[in-house]
Amino acid sequence: MHNAEAKIKRIVIVGGGTAGWLAANHLAADVSEDVVITLVESPSIPTIGVGEGTVPVIVDSLKKFGIHESDMFRLCDATFKNGIHFVGWNKPVNGQPHCYFHPFDDPNVNGVNLLPYWLHQLPGARERFDQSVSIQTHIALENRAPKLITNAEYERLINYAFHLDAGKFSALLAKHAIDNRQVKYIQDDVESVELALDGSISGLQLKQGPLLEGDLFIDCSGFQSLLLGKALNTPFIDKSDVLFANHAVVTQVPYEREQEVPPYTISTAQQAGWIWDIGLQTRKGVGHVYSDQFTSHEQAHRDLSAYLGRSEDVVESRLIKMQVGYRAQAWVKNCIGIGLSQGFVEPLEATGLLVFDLAARMLSKRLPEQREDMPAIAQQFNQHMSHTWQSIVDFIKLHYCISNRDDSEFWRMNRALETIPDSLQHKLALWRSDIPNEYDFVSSLDVFRLENHLYVLYGMNYPSRCKYPSPQKVSQQEGMINLVSQQQQKAVAMLETHSKLVAKAARYGFQ
Ligand code: FAD
Repeated sequence: MHNAEAKIKRIVIVGGGTAGWLAANHLAADVSEDVVITLVESPSIPTIGVGEGTVPVIVDSLKKFGIHESDMFRLCDATFKNGIHFVGWNKPVNGQPHCYFHPFDDPNVNGVNLLPYWLHQLPGARERFDQSVSIQTHIALENRAPKLITNAEYERLINYAFHLDAGKFSALLAKHAIDNRQVKYIQDDVESVELALDGSISGLQLKQGPLLEGDLFIDCSGFQSLLLGKALNTPFIDKSDVLFANHAVVTQVPYEREQEVPPYTISTAQQAGWIWDIGLQTRKGVGHVYSDQFTSHEQAHRDLSAYLGRSEDVVESRLIKMQVGYRAQAWVKNCIGIGLSQGFVEPLEATGLLVFDLAARMLSKRLPEQREDMPAIAQQFNQHMSHTWQSIVDFIKLHYCISNRDDSEFWRMNRALETIPDSLQHKLALWRSDIPNEYDFVSSLDVFRLENHLYVLYGMNYPSRCKYPSPQKVSQQEGMINLVSQQQQKAVAMLETHSKLVAKAARYGFQ
C-alpha cells in the first residue's frame, strides 16, 4: 500500500520565461490529468528576452505539444535556420575573412566517411570541408529554405530549426499550456520559500496570494535561481575560467528595405568575443557576446554599432550580465532547476533552449509518482545534466582553442593550456593522432555528436593525421563527393528562396 500523502499531485513552476513554459508543456503532455500543474510568474520581473536561435530538436518538442508549424511563422516572427555561418574565427585567408558553416546535415553521405578524402584534397574535394560534404551548407548559402510549401507541417527534407522572437514564442507556449491542458497560471511575486524539516520545499509565500503549496517545485526563475540556488544553497560551478564571455550587449534592428533574410545564424568573431546576427521576418536580433576582462562595455557597444554600420549614438543596446556555469546538482530534494536557474554558457551553438528542452523532456518522462521514488530519479537526472554541461563546455571551448587568431589577448588566452579542460585536451590529442570516430561519443544523450565536432574541427582546419584511403575507398568516396555536388545543384534548383517560403508559410501555412 502506498501512502496517498506521498503521491506527487501538485507541481509548481516558478517563472514564465521560455524555460518555464517549455517545462509546463512537456509536463502537460506526459503527466496524468490528476496532477495539477501551476505556473507562477512575477508581474514585474521581465523575462531575459533573448534566445532566438534554436536547434532541430525543437521541432520534436513542438510536434509533441501539438503546436502547429504555421503558428511559428504566423505568431512568432519565425524564419528557418539551416545552421550557423562562422566568420573570422581563424586568421583571414588571402585577405578574406575565414568562414565555415555548421549545418544540421550528416557529413557522412550514405554512410560513407568523406573526411579522409577531403583531408587529402583528392579530386572533386573543395577547399572547404562543409562545401565538400554538406548539401545543407549549399542550400543555406544560396538563401534557400530547407523545405517546400507543399510539404506537410514539420516534414523534413533535411534537418532544420527556427529563429524566433523569444517573447512571442513564450506567449505561444503559455497560451497552449493554459488552453489545452489547463495549466494554472498565477501572476504574483514569490517573496520567500518555506522549507520542511527534511530541507525540501513545502511552499512559496506569494506577495498577494496565500502560501502556494506543492509536492514538486521547478525553478525556472532565471539567473537569480530563486529556489535551487538561493533557497537550497546549491553550489554553482563557475566556468568563466574556461569560457571567458560573461556579458552581452543586445539590440534589435528593423529592416529598412525589403531584403533576403539569411536562413542561418551569422556568428562573427570579434577581438574579445563574437556577434550573433539572427534575421526574423520583421527585424534582426543582434548581440555582441564578450568578456569584460578583455574589453570594456563601451567598446563592446562601439563594436556592435560598427558591425551594424551605424553610429554608436543611434544604436540602442541593452547590457546583459551572464553567469557562466551550472549548478552542481540540477535536482535537489523536491526541486529541479530548468533554464538559466540551472546553468548557462554563451549562446554560440544555441545551447540554451536545447539543454532546457532536454531537461524538461527527461523530467516529464521520468516524473516520480511518489516522493520515495525521487532520490533514485534525481541521482540519474543529475548525472545526465552534469555530463551534458561538461560536454557542452568542451564543445564551445573547442571553437576558441583551436583558432589560430593571435590579434588580441582574448584569443591568445583561449589557447592557454590551463584554460582548456583536461577532458577536451584529451580529445584534442586523440584527434591530432587520428580523425574522430563514433567511439569518441558513447553517450546517446550527448547533445553535440560526431557530426557537430567534424564541422567545427575541419571548418577550423584542425590538423589531424589521417591515413591515405585505400584505392577502393578512394573510388567510393570520389563517387560520393560527386553525388553531393550534384545534389547541391539539384536542391538549390528545387527549393524556393527563404524569404518567399517564409512569407507563404506565414500566410497560408503548410499542408
Ligand atoms: P527568464 O527568461 O529570465 O525568465 C525568468 C522568469 O522567472 C520570468 O518570468 C520572471 O518573471 C520569473 N521570476 C523571477 N523571479 C521571480 C519571483 N520572485 N517570483 C515569481 N516569478 C519570478 N538560448 C538559445 O537557445 N538560443 C539563443 O540564441 C540564445 N541566446 C541567448 C543570448 C543571451 C545574451 C542570453 C543571456 C541567453 C541566450 N539564450 C539562448 C538562453 C535563453 O535566453 C534562455 O534559455 C531562455 O530565455 C530561458 O530563460 P529562463 O526562462 O530560464 O529565464
